[in-house]
Amino acid sequence: MAITDKIYVKNHQQLVSQIETSFPKGAFKGATLDILFQGEGLAKLDDASQDRVLDFAEDFLDCDCQANPHCGCPERKFVAYLLELREQGLGPDAIVDVMSDDYLLYAYPGDMLSFLDNSVRTLEAVETLAEVDGRDDVAEEVQRRRNRLM
Ligand SMILES: [Zn+2]
Repeated sequence: MAITDKIYVKNHQQLVSQIETSFPKGAFKGATLDILFQGEGLAKLDDASQDRVLDFAEDFLDCDCQANPHCGCPERKFVAYLLELREQGLGPDAIVDVMSDDYLLYAYPGDMLSFLDNSVRTLEAVETLAEVDGRDDVAEEVQRRRNRLM
């Protein structure tokens, strides 16, 4: 399962009762994207929640794809956001804290840790392949990227 399948909406019950429409707890579930982040229910949220839900929509659901928001861009952008936080030196717990301050989302620190480990391992594999191919420039770039995630 991708990390984006393990990102949840904080205060889920409270938000459901505010917008008076049920939606799944998973932030990237199709129905959550439709109902919470793009639906008319948004107007019924309290101001603090509304700000953060809108921020999420603006930052991750802003592509022009025809299938938006079900095009895969939101997930890709969110993964980039997580890796950026890691590159700033944040650990799994701090990343979860920032994500809930920024966007009213949460994840389990253990899932975040596995995601970060997997990202490093993926880059290691890419680096090895590049070396085998004699693409030293690529291997070096990937290694730089990987070091920033450690
Ligand atoms: Zn898109």
